[in-house]
Amino acid sequence: MNFVITAGPTREPIDPVRYLSNRSSGKMGYAIAEAALERGHNVLLISGPVNLNPPPRAKVISILSSDEMHDAVHGHLHDCDVLVMCAAVADYKPAKVSAQKIKKRHAPLSLELIPTRDILASVAKPDRQFLLVGFAAETNNLEEYAQKKLREKNCDLIVANNVLTGIDSDENEVTIFSRTGEQQTISRAPKQNIARELVKLFSNSCEKRLTKKM
Ligand code: C5P
Repeated sequence: MNFVITAGPTREPIDPVRYLSNRSSGKMGYAIAEAALERGHNVLLISGPVNLNPPPRAKVISILSSDEMHDAVHGHLHDCDVLVMCAAVADYKPAKVSAQKIKKRHAPLSLELIPTRDILASVAKPDRQFLLVGFAAETNNLEEYAQKKLREKNCDLIVANNVLTGIDSDENEVTIFSRTGEQQTISRAPKQNIARELVKLFSNSCEKRLTKKM
């Protein structure tokens, strides 16, 4: 199967030297890429800036901003079987990017922010051919928010985790909610182990989806 995986944070430029970003190590997305390769799948990793070496057999597209990630994802959907949106895309970006470095003044400074495009929602067309997996990183009300995201963003699966325990860590605990109503928790383990379980689940769900369509 062909996996397309987004990982890491995005950077939304303010001026040539400053940006807005998210705390995201990219570890979960890179571990999923590695696990998918281990199972013989092809992997395209669309990655924001992280301090990790990509798995040698993955094809990698490096991006910085959410707009670049949006275009990279849309440019690689034609032969995608499983799209895993693991990236921590910034939700807002500056309304305008200053061409010059903004000078420091001794006065408060306000930035006008506008929402970024929601990449996950933008690919969730009802006639899509691929399995669509979203991630939900929450600090509270994990199940309620994950179920809401699953419905609103029209995904097949949502992988929910608690950012207070998962962020930057080498370990994670996740609960996967499916559009068909199933729920499965993978208890705390190294991200590599979680990734192997996730890839198994994604490929099984993708196969089921294909057989239903035939
Ligand atoms: O709404 P929220 O950002 O919590 O949703 C998280 C999911 O949506 C993740 O799968 C993330 O990759 C995706 N997302 C996106 N584009 C955005 C914001 C989030 O694809 N602008």
